[in-house]
Amino acid sequence: MQDIDFRGKKALVRVDFNVPLDKDYRISDDTRIRAALPTINYILDHGGAVILLSHLGRPQKKRKADGSIDTERFSLRHIVPHLSQLLGREVLFCPEPVGEMAQKMTASLQPGQVLLLENTRFEPGETQGDETLAKSWSELADVYINDAFGTAHRAHASTSTVAQFFPKGAKSMGFLMQAEVANANKVLHHPERPLTAIVGGAKVSDKILLLERLLDFVDNLLIGGGMAYTFIKSQGGQVGNSLVEEDRLELAKNLLAKAKEKGVQMLLPADSVIADKFSADAHTRIAPSHQIPEGWMGLDIGPKAIEAFAQLIMSSKTILWNGPMGVFEMEPFASGTKAIAEAVARATEQGAFSLVGGGDSVAAVKQMGLADKVSFVSTGGGAMLEFLEGKTLPGIAALEA
Ligand code: AMP
Repeated sequence: MQDIDFRGKKALVRVDFNVPLDKDYRISDDTRIRAALPTINYILDHGGAVILLSHLGRPQKKRKADGSIDTERFSLRHIVPHLSQLLGREVLFCPEPVGEMAQKMTASLQPGQVLLLENTRFEPGETQGDETLAKSWSELADVYINDAFGTAHRAHASTSTVAQFFPKGAKSMGFLMQAEVANANKVLHHPERPLTAIVGGAKVSDKILLLERLLDFVDNLLIGGGMAYTFIKSQGGQVGNSLVEEDRLELAKNLLAKAKEKGVQMLLPADSVIADKFSADAHTRIAPSHQIPEGWMGLDIGPKAIEAFAQLIMSSKTILWNGPMGVFEMEPFASGTKAIAEAVARATEQGAFSLVGGGDSVAAVKQMGLADKVSFVSTGGGAMLEFLEGKTLPGIAALEA
């Protein structure tokens, strides 16, 4: 993007403004909007005009009772006042994502002006990667910039198809996308060692590809969250009523064997905070993770596990974290995730590089106020997971074609 001359040009910028809105359409977390500002400001400061494209929610899947699109609930116009405030300039809004009005408004756009088009997903062709739709968007601008890392794993019209209508040299990643890719590549391709990956979250089945890939290059693999119990059971442990995926026991066993073969230190939580029901007011106690009585379930890693995990984290030079260590949304089961977040923050303070990416671990570090104490927090849940799994992301590939 730094090689493109934006003077007098119109740039079509795909951003990810898919932010959470409350019932009064107020933005409850503007991280994604802030993350796109450097790209937008750079283009404006370099003499260009910006046409913003984004999706918001799933308007096609959540149509109104009469079958029509809920143009109120899913409108990007709710974003305009805040975006305008953050940019310190007026943001024009086109109430249609494409068509005559979009053509008119973009035609008269002057350098230094910003125009936000309505939700790309109001058009059914968006998620189908429709070429006609993509071409219409491409005709509005001279340059295409994709800064929507959060949707880079989707081959949609505005994230991928549209890029084919711009020649090389007139399309690029934005700064956010560049940072996401550079930080993930740092972990994947040139990590300072030891490299420790921490993987948690609910299920093994969601993270199979990630776990398999990680075993090829990490030094330590720490497993927490609900997925730990499938591994523990696969080794003959008694896990009571903990979350177990019976159909993944064999896979779990194989992953443990593969770790051994490859000399990866794969650590399961030695103990757990167990509860007699899945509830914040459950009775709780600490038990060895392989001796959880019937009627009880492991909902967080225990103190011994925290100590062992934290020790490895503190001795690491590169740390990758995906997924919480327990049901951190409930206070009695948040200690494990909190302690791990603190250990990652301390290791970072001592010079380690840490990347938190993909899903709920991002929410956890934010909730704990530690987001600025780690090296990089990814804005792309599913996209980061797929990037780490080694998949080619359509949104990135299209820019290189
Ligand atoms: P993921 O989206 O795969 O990262 O999973 C995150 C979810 O896993 C969170 O909602 C957690 O509450 C849940 N989780 C973490 N640990 C456990 C556990 N021990 N048992 C059940 N669910 C868990």
